[in-house]
Amino acid sequence: MFASPIARLVQQLGKLPGIGEKTAARLAFHILRASPEDAAALAEAIRDVKEKITLCEVCFNLAEGPRCTVCLDERREADVICVVEEPGDVIPIERTHEYRGRYHVLGGALSPIDGVEPEDLKLAQLYDRVTNGVREVILATNPTTTGEATALHVAAALHQRAPDVAVTRLASGLPVGGDLEYADEVTLGRAFTGRRAV
Ligand SMILES: [Zn+2]
Repeated sequence: MFASPIARLVQQLGKLPGIGEKTAARLAFHILRASPEDAAALAEAIRDVKEKITLCEVCFNLAEGPRCTVCLDERREADVICVVEEPGDVIPIERTHEYRGRYHVLGGALSPIDGVEPEDLKLAQLYDRVTNGVREVILATNPTTTGEATALHVAAALHQRAPDVAVTRLASGLPVGGDLEYADEVTLGRAFTGRRAV
């Protein structure tokens, strides 16, 4: 139907989440009409994220270099750690402006059915971090079955390993079964201020 370079672009764009065949074709024609500079900038931006973005050596958030911007920021409280599932969960929390501590990105949630066991997540690294003067760990895993199971598992492990550290969970009110990514700032901000001990 299309000349092969266009067909290839349509096919690649169609692999993106939420992009059907029609939208992929529309985007491909948009890129085709764009200036050479804009099209090159898009291609370069895609190449750059794959080449330059790594995981922070401390918290496993996305980073350009060994440490992420949160870990490099001296003004962020070092004694509060917010535990999230994925790097994408940091963005909505940052947008609330309610949180001034650090993060720890687990890299997923416990799900024995899918074969995700504790050793598949960055849990050992979290337990190492809490021994260094941490006062509170906020469990901000998603309000889903796997997110709740992960929060329970981590809370129990922290109580055992670091009994002096307060462990809290975001207040309810977040859409159940949803991801933090889709929570609005006001709701998420309220969930932060209303967090409770677990
Ligand atoms: Zn970091």
